[in-house]
Amino acid sequence: MKIGIIGAGPRGLLMLNNLIQNFESSDHDNLTIHLFDRAVAGGRVWKVKQPISLIMNTPANELSLFDDGQKDALSISEWCQSNISKEFINSLDVDNKDELLTAVNKINDRSYVPRAICGAYCQWFFQQLVEQIKDNDNINLAVHFNQNVDNVEKVKNDSFVVSVGDVDYPVDKLVFSLGQQENKLTKDQESLQKYANDYGLTYILPGEADEADLSTITSDQNVIIRGMGLSFNDFVSRLTEGRGGHFTDNGDDTLTYHASGDEPTIYAGSRRGVPYYPKAISQKAFNENYPAVFLTNENVDKHLKDGHISFEDFHMLLRLDIEYRYYSFLFSLKHPEIDVEDFQKKFKETDNHNALIGSYHLPTEEVFDWDKILNPVAGVKISTLDNYQEHIKTWLKEMIDDALLGSKTGPVIGSLEMLRDLRDNIRYVLSNHLFTNDDLVHKYLGRFSSDMKFLSQGAPAVRSQEILALMDAGIVKIIGPQMQVIGANHKFITRSAFYGEEIIQVDALIEARTNAPVTKVSANPVITSMMDNGLIKPLPITLSDGETVDNSSVDIDIKTDQVIGQPNLYTWGLNTEGLYFVTSAIPRPGVNDSILRAGDDIAKGLLDIPVENPTIYM
Ligand SMILES: Cc1cc2nc3c(=O)[nH]c(=O)nc-3n(C[C@H](O)[C@H](O)[C@H](O)COP(=O)(O)OP(=O)(O)OC[C@H]3O[C@@H](n4cnc5c(N)ncnc54)[C@H](O)[C@@H]3O)c2cc1C
Repeated sequence: MKIGIIGAGPRGLLMLNNLIQNFESSDHDNLTIHLFDRAVAGGRVWKVKQPISLIMNTPANELSLFDDGQKDALSISEWCQSNISKEFINSLDVDNKDELLTAVNKINDRSYVPRAICGAYCQWFFQQLVEQIKDNDNINLAVHFNQNVDNVEKVKNDSFVVSVGDVDYPVDKLVFSLGQQENKLTKDQESLQKYANDYGLTYILPGEADEADLSTITSDQNVIIRGMGLSFNDFVSRLTEGRGGHFTDNGDDTLTYHASGDEPTIYAGSRRGVPYYPKAISQKAFNENYPAVFLTNENVDKHLKDGHISFEDFHMLLRLDIEYRYYSFLFSLKHPEIDVEDFQKKFKETDNHNALIGSYHLPTEEVFDWDKILNPVAGVKISTLDNYQEHIKTWLKEMIDDALLGSKTGPVIGSLEMLRDLRDNIRYVLSNHLFTNDDLVHKYLGRFSSDMKFLSQGAPAVRSQEILALMDAGIVKIIGPQMQVIGANHKFITRSAFYGEEIIQVDALIEARTNAPVTKVSANPVITSMMDNGLIKPLPITLSDGETVDNSSVDIDIKTDQVIGQPNLYTWGLNTEGLYFVTSAIPRPGVNDSILRAGDDIAKGLLDIPVENPTIYM
């Protein structure tokens, strides 16, 4: 039996682990696994050789590649704090060893680990698997690292040939998890790229922030960063600390930036005009989740009409869970006169939540306002770039202070943290197709997904402290909402629609985001060849008016994660985003993580072992 795994990122490694763990229970006498990646074990995101200042956005104790209960399992935090990590890093043939060792010695359970260290953890994990395979005469591993798979074809008996250049690898079954994609350029990107080429400007397309060539951006230049999520923080870090500047701690939860003089002036913006919310300092144990009180599967089921929950009912349940946490934290922190348990009981029982909150006579600014959370600058008079800086700084400072209180204390950031705990509840709605297709397309896939990223997928609070310090130093300026960018006068120019006459001209434009994982627009040859060869297609969605649109996900059977029509082909991870929810995280130990369960189920499927209660990612 030959199984191919394309992608040796965390999912590819989880698959390898689960194939090894499950092999003994299968009826197969021997197994050869072909593992392919353009990079090495750990994959492209988790390169060991990348700037040490680029950090993860999940606390160290919430990350593991091992299955719960697996022998000798170490989470990334346990690994970093053991001698095993130091010995392993010392054994690596890399020139940033000293930097890695200094960083690993500083890690505690709640640290945000440098991504390079997570890369070392992935490589160590892989080494453990290789050792296990060496001891097993019936499993062979053929590793194809630093190789680009450029074609996948189906041959006889529903088996496949995976091609790397001129070399073909026949496999009986295949699983792919390709992570971030390269996409076909949009018309806008094509024209901006042409403009940059014509006038000697720098244009950085969406992709991996640590790999982009920033060498043409000089200190006398202005640069636009479009997008204010995680990639924004990476680019800012590379253009500031990465150029010799440094931060000092003022001892009052603020930082001061000391410039090296090599930094360009950064104009950052987005449609919303506000950087992502910071992550709270974690106060949770590694396996601690707040369960849903309102968006429970049972409550969702109660709202079903003809098998569907309306988006509005779904959103109301989700909001109630956030508000429940918000007021619980707020009352504990600021209103000792209010009995939190009594509030919680009443909030769960009442049909009129607004009236209940009204009965506490809170000052207006303490009443939870969802619209304000989604649009923190709503109602603010924005008339110049300069006065906008002051609004953003005030908001950032408030959010940083809240985030520093901790994930079980800060009312705003602590309650938004709930959105991570609710992921499986959202997955339940999505993968069981409980939205109507119209609600899915018009209300969930567009706005809601983007809102979730803004609220819950930001960087650790220290990144927001850094942005604030860089704004104070005049190196970063945030453009107001509805940022527009065009090429004109041999420059890229940008402005906010709110103060249209203030135009900023720059020499470099950075698209600070990874490409959306959309099957139809992917330019990854694994996807394009499988589409061309009729192996995969996007999941179709038929709307009530008869129009059919494509989901971003590959069309798969959610019970097995098999590609529809291909019994021996499986996919998971970002290739299924849109059908599943947040498909790219590294699993969390001790919480029966759905990623770990899915990995086990798929491995069983590949080995023809029956799966009794399929995961369906929830
Ligand atoms: C900058 C950044 C920071 C992140 N930080 C965090 C974080 O802090 N915490 C967290 O949980 N998640 C984080 N993520 C999400 C991250 O994607 C996941 O943690 C994890 O890497 C997903 O694993 P994966 O195996 O599904 O995909 P990936 O890790 O992306 O691995 C996919 C692999 O497939 C390979 N591949 C693709 N196409 C081909 C081909 N044609 N031929 C050969 N190989 C191919 C790629 O080289 C890649 O190595 C981050 C992502 C990015 C981009």
